[in-house]
Amino acid sequence: MRYKGSVYRPPSEARSYLVQVTYGCTHNKCKFCSMYRDKPFKIREMSEIVEDLHMARSYFSRVDRVFLCDGDALILSNDRLKEIIGHVYKILPEVQRISMYGSPKDVLLKSHEELVELREHGVEFIYIGAESGSDKVLANIEKGATRAEIIEAVKKIEASGIKASVTFISGLGGKDNWREHAIETGTMISEMGASYVGVLTLLLEETAPLYQDVLDGTFKLLSAEEVVHETLLMMENINVSEDSPCVFRSNHASNYVSLRGDLPKDKEKFLKQLKTASENLHLLKDERFRAL
Ligand code: SF4
Repeated sequence: MRYKGSVYRPPSEARSYLVQVTYGCTHNKCKFCSMYRDKPFKIREMSEIVEDLHMARSYFSRVDRVFLCDGDALILSNDRLKEIIGHVYKILPEVQRISMYGSPKDVLLKSHEELVELREHGVEFIYIGAESGSDKVLANIEKGATRAEIIEAVKKIEASGIKASVTFISGLGGKDNWREHAIETGTMISEMGASYVGVLTLLLEETAPLYQDVLDGTFKLLSAEEVVHETLLMMENINVSEDSPCVFRSNHASNYVSLRGDLPKDKEKFLKQLKTASENLHLLKDERFRAL
């Protein structure tokens, strides 16, 4: 397969065929993110996309899932996305599911009808990075979207029949804003109605601008123990209704404690796990084994 630069995908797309339909990310400013610093945003030539799909056909006898890369493929117009999806089904007719990353702004630029159209063309998941429910933290990290905009985007995805998979990052408030980050993230998860919620833990690469803030002391990282306290406070503030349950995952390689289940059903179990971890720090994942 041919890929330009590093390619990223959500953990749940591990078995998907990854095809770059754009390069980079239109925003490319989030201070904790180093994914596309060396890759300016560009829309990829359709002829190359089609060639990659033919390559997939020649390598694999069966492809069930296709993930459209890079950072925010949803920025493409519906006409272009439908053309790409048309090629996917023509060349790989057995495909069952198509997914992509989308920024909150990308979603809000689409009408309800356009999102429904994508659903009807086989788009099943849009992965969206919310990072925090706190407007202060969102501004600090230069997310380029407010809490209200992110909630609106998630509700809009779900209303179209596409499933929203929304990611938050423990530790992103640092020592100065951890309490607000935890509470506001918990209440946002309760409010937004996403089908899937994932919580990672902050782990910075040296090329991320926030890494420099750590070095000069303007951003103070939480310790492992503080991250667990923060996650506990976040969980205490999650009140997802029985009518709108969500799959909750915090079992990424970056997490100190692995949580996996459904909300609201497993809230008490998660609280117990987090309290146990906070009282038995030897249970936390060793720093050496954390990864992005
Ligand atoms: S976190 Fe997402 S939106 Fe922000 S710069 Fe990275 S890829 Fe772009």
